[in-house]
Amino acid sequence: MTVRVRFAPSPTGMFHVGGARSALQNWIYAKQQGGVFVLRIEDTDAARNKPEWTEGILSALDWIGISRGSYEGPHFQSENAGEHRAAAARLYESGRAYYCDCTREDVQARTGSQYQGYDGYHRDRGLGPGPGHALRFRTPDEGATVVVDLIRGEPTFENKLIEDFVIARGDGSPVFLLANVVDDMSMGITHVIRAEEHLPNTPKQQLLWDALGVKPPIWAHVPVVVNEKRQKLSKRRDKVALEAYREEGYLPGAMRNYLMLLGWAPSGDREIVPWSVIEEEFRLEEVNPSPAFFDEKKLRAFNGDYIRALPVDEFIDACQPWLTGTGTIAPPPWQPEEFDADAFAAVAPLAQTRITVLSEIVPNVDFLFLASPLIDEAAWAKTMKEGSAELLDDAVAAFEALESWDAESLKSTLEAVGAERGLKLGKTQAPVRVAVTGRTVGLPLFESLEVLGRERTLTRMRAARLRLV
Ligand code: GLU
Repeated sequence: MTVRVRFAPSPTGMFHVGGARSALQNWIYAKQQGGVFVLRIEDTDAARNKPEWTEGILSALDWIGISRGSYEGPHFQSENAGEHRAAAARLYESGRAYYCDCTREDVQARTGSQYQGYDGYHRDRGLGPGPGHALRFRTPDEGATVVVDLIRGEPTFENKLIEDFVIARGDGSPVFLLANVVDDMSMGITHVIRAEEHLPNTPKQQLLWDALGVKPPIWAHVPVVVNEKRQKLSKRRDKVALEAYREEGYLPGAMRNYLMLLGWAPSGDREIVPWSVIEEEFRLEEVNPSPAFFDEKKLRAFNGDYIRALPVDEFIDACQPWLTGTGTIAPPPWQPEEFDADAFAAVAPLAQTRITVLSEIVPNVDFLFLASPLIDEAAWAKTMKEGSAELLDDAVAAFEALESWDAESLKSTLEAVGAERGLKLGKTQAPVRVAVTGRTVGLPLFESLEVLGRERTLTRMRAARLRLV
């Protein structure tokens, strides 16, 4: 039997990091089993779907390493609508489903208490199809539905606790629960690896598989992803869109490594490991069923490690979208013609050890490309104290006299200027840094001044000095 798994997102919003995690787990499982990964876009909720969300899914998958053309699909659920209806009809004709025209209020009026699920009123009343008649599945009165789940063992659901659920609405359209089963069936899916949120659907879906006469798949419900308050990650509250991480400058390698650690770990106390190790060692059966904490701080630290591990030319390439403002990434504050690739290459190794996401490259290097630095006024006010004007005067004079404009000479010169005032280097360089870069933190100062050049450095220091009059 060839293993066939599927990833079945609904194109109703930005691509969720939890979805990316499930996609990767499906992807690896298929690869390990010599199986097939199928992408199915569940686009039957016409009111909420947008074509751009589908494109977003494809490009997000591509970014994370599941590239277009390397899997089966995308198939679209909407293309299978005929099969969904045919399955509903088969279930009705075989007596496994029946029509019902009760409203929720009707049921409540009969049962008196709070709504506790459908009461089976129309089970044996022989209502035929018609407008406003929903089709309900006749769940067995006895026995239990045992779900075989690679992560959760054998969750068992008593059939008498499962209501006769709706499989097609009053307008005849099949509901998600049925469409999802019919698609899995017609696509020959053998293993359904998906988020824990769908576990409550699973006994109902398995009953549908049985009723349609097909052996159900093996299930694997991967843990829900939660924030630091142990709340399920939500798009309203948390940063969940893979696109947002991409735009901030997370590397896909770091992201997918981190996502695979949600509920699982590679051997030997390691966390940052090559993808080939994850592909080899990952075991779906070992995934911890408890909620998995999505720790953004940890992910950020991971990303910093991944950035530092890049060869410098790859780092330079990886920064390009932020240096030029490609696609959905915000353009930098400088004009394209102001950018100087050689100057950037000269400071890139210094930046590489300091940033944790690629977007941080911009505030670190903008002083090199802008005609005058973007002054952070709070930093200015904090740094430019009494004595700063005189210090800048002396520093300008000392720098003007320098024969060689290199980091080492700049450093020893400024050190000497500070020493005359009894100041340590840190204190001495702060006003120079703010004058030249506009900020209190950034790349090593003297290397920065060397790359910026004599003329521009001195012009900025003089301009700052004038502001202090
Ligand atoms: N379309 C469903 C979702 O996005 C997936 C259901 C499934 O994987 O079975 O949640």
